[in-house]
Amino acid sequence: MGALYVSDHPLVQHKLALLRDIRTEPKKFRELTREISVLLGYEATRDLRLQPISVTTPLGEVQGRELAEEVGLVPILRAGLGMVDGIWEMMPAAQVWHIGLYRDEHTLQPVQYYSNLPVAPSVQVCFVLDPMLATGGSAVATVDILKDWGAKRIKFVGLIASPEGVMHLRDAHPDVDVHVAAVDRQLNDVGYIVPGLGDAGHRLFGTG
Ligand code: URA
Repeated sequence: MGALYVSDHPLVQHKLALLRDIRTEPKKFRELTREISVLLGYEATRDLRLQPISVTTPLGEVQGRELAEEVGLVPILRAGLGMVDGIWEMMPAAQVWHIGLYRDEHTLQPVQYYSNLPVAPSVQVCFVLDPMLATGGSAVATVDILKDWGAKRIKFVGLIASPEGVMHLRDAHPDVDVHVAAVDRQLNDVGYIVPGLGDAGHRLFGTG
C-alpha cells in the first residue's frame, strides 16, 4: 500500500506560504516551485535502491554507492513543468517524459493529447509531477498511462492536494506514494483547491 506523505519540513512550509501569497510574482513563484520541488523530491527519493561501486579517491579506494534504478520524471503539462528542473538537477541522469491531458468539456474526463513515452518502459521508477492534486483525474489518468506502458513503481509529487484528489488517486492506485506539501480544505465547484494558490499554470507562466 502506498502512503500519503505531507511534508512538515520547516523550509517547505515557509516556502509554501510565500508561494500561496497572491502578491507573489511569476518569477518568484517559479523559484519557489522549483525549491519546494527539490525538497519534496529529496523526501520522495529516500527509498531509491543503491548498488555498491568502487571509487578511487586521491588517497585510495573506497566502497561507494550509486543509484541502481533508472528514474523517470513525468510532468503533467503544463504546470508540472515547473517542478522538473529542480528535481532534475538532483538526478541529472533522469529521463523526462511529458504527458499532456485536457478535460473534455462534456464528460469532464481527462483526455490525453500528448505523450512522448517510448514503446517499452525505459525506467524503473516514475515520479509524476503536478503542482495541484485537485480532482485527481489527471493524476489517475497519468498513472493509468504509465502502468499500461509497463512502469512498475510510480510516485506522485505535488505541492498542494485536496482531500478529494488524494482519495481519488489512492482509491484508483493504492500502490502509488503521494508526496505533497499540504492537503487543503476542499475543492470548489469548478475544481479549484481552496484555499490553494489559484491556477498554478497561470502563476508559473504569467498567463493569468
Ligand atoms: N489546478 C490549479 O492550477 N489550481 C487548482 O486549484 C486546481 C487545479
